[in-house]
Amino acid sequence: HNTMRRINYMPTKKRGNPKSIRWKWGFLLSIAFFLLYFLSALFMLNVYTGYHYDEQKDEAENLLYSVQTALSEIDTKLSVNSVESMFEKISVSTVTKGLQSVGNYPFLEDLKNRGANIRVFDTEGQLLYETQKSYTTFIKNPDTYLRETKLNNLEAFVAGGPILSKEESFLLGYVQIVFRLNDYHTVVSQMKQYFWLVTAIVLVLSAAAGYGIAIYFFRPIKQMVDTMDAIEEDTLSETRIKISKSKDEFTDLSVHINGLLDKMALYVTQQKQFVEDVSHELRTPTAIVEGHLKLLNRWGKEDPQILDESLAASLTEIQRMKTLVQEMLDLSRAEQVEIHYKNEVTPIRNVVLHTFHNFKMLYPDFVFNLDDDLNREIYVNIYRNHFEQILVILMDNAVKYSTDRHEIHLSISESMSYVQIAIQDFGEGMSQEDQQKIFSRFYRVDKARSRNKGGNGLGLSIAKELLEGYKGDITVESVLGHGSVFRIQLPILKNYVPDEEL
Ligand code: ADP
Repeated sequence: HNTMRRINYMPTKKRGNPKSIRWKWGFLLSIAFFLLYFLSALFMLNVYTGYHYDEQKDEAENLLYSVQTALSEIDTKLSVNSVESMFEKISVSTVTKGLQSVGNYPFLEDLKNRGANIRVFDTEGQLLYETQKSYTTFIKNPDTYLRETKLNNLEAFVAGGPILSKEESFLLGYVQIVFRLNDYHTVVSQMKQYFWLVTAIVLVLSAAAGYGIAIYFFRPIKQMVDTMDAIEEDTLSETRIKISKSKDEFTDLSVHINGLLDKMALYVTQQKQFVEDVSHELRTPTAIVEGHLKLLNRWGKEDPQILDESLAASLTEIQRMKTLVQEMLDLSRAEQVEIHYKNEVTPIRNVVLHTFHNFKMLYPDFVFNLDDDLNREIYVNIYRNHFEQILVILMDNAVKYSTDRHEIHLSISESMSYVQIAIQDFGEGMSQEDQQKIFSRFYRVDKARSRNKGGNGLGLSIAKELLEGYKGDITVESVLGHGSVFRIQLPILKNYVPDEEL
């Protein structure tokens, strides 16, 4: 029986980590969440600082321009005193017109807060005044300029230009302003601190969210694995995958797997039952043969009567075993007709008539009646030998289980898209209860009597299995002590034209 091989149980080696797919997805999701946040936050941070930086540049340009205008008011040769008094005179509001106010500080203090240092030079490039001591180099530059530079590794601006008299007719001196961008650096460093703090929080949150989601979505898989584990431990375990209420692909898959598991369990049970039944069936004939051989061994050699009797009995039993093995083979093959005999076509009426005549010849003491309602041949998708086998099983039974009235009715008719064949006898019949069971393997109403008639209880199982394979079916109607009718039906092959008629 080749199906035995297919369900061969192979103990699985220890599986790899079954959680890995969840962890992989959790990891990927966390990374995805985190990157999404990180990149957009980084972009925002850059946009913000860039904007702020440009603003600082504007302020620097404005301040330089305001200082240049203020100093041009002096209008004579620049001196330390005139410059100093000018700076003390001007207020924040006049100089920083158009600038963002930093607070209501005096101008010099405001400069200090901003980290700006103003230096004024005479026409020769000699330093006259500076708001803070510094060591920046000065180059006489006839044009106004603004340079980006670094001081103590931080961005800064150096701006400068000539100071011209009011009418711009002559040069008064030069001004240079160093902007350390204190505000800007404070804001940026604070922003960066926040950024890293939030990043750390988001890292934790996205890991939690990623793994959470992965675990949630792969929960059904975990359940499947758990179920499989249980099945692996015990093939007949009743454990099945829980079907969640939400309808999704996993639910479908779970339903399918559960169906397969049910089928497998049924299959295994049937297989076990079959093997048990077969061993049981073989035990009796083997025991009988053994008994006879022992008898022969002890006394049979001298006693020709025992010799004859024992040999005859043993041969009968061997014959019975042969039949049993053949029937089991037939039964096993009947399970697979769907695959192997898809294209077989049989003229039903022809086979029924043929079998009818054969039985008439074989059992001359029986009266066989044929009630043929068909006026034409009917074709069915079934292998001819199989159909014959079914008819023979039913006719044989009718003969076997007939009592006084040796009469058998055979009828063939057509209704809807089915052909129906009925085999009726007037023999021993059977109870309602037995009618349910006779199609099961090895079932016999009266074991001993059936055995005497050569029955193994497989005939009807074979017939049923074959008919189901060809999409047909079999039913029985019987009254105990009065006889039985077996009815089979098979789907008619429509529009079929046999080869010889073409
Ligand atoms: P068996 O080889 O024993 O006849 P089957 O599978 O053909 O096995 O039949 C199963 C049992 O059903 C038989 O043992 C018999 O008890 C009962 N049976 C089958 N056909 C008939 C019938 N025509 N009349 C009465 N009993 C029947």
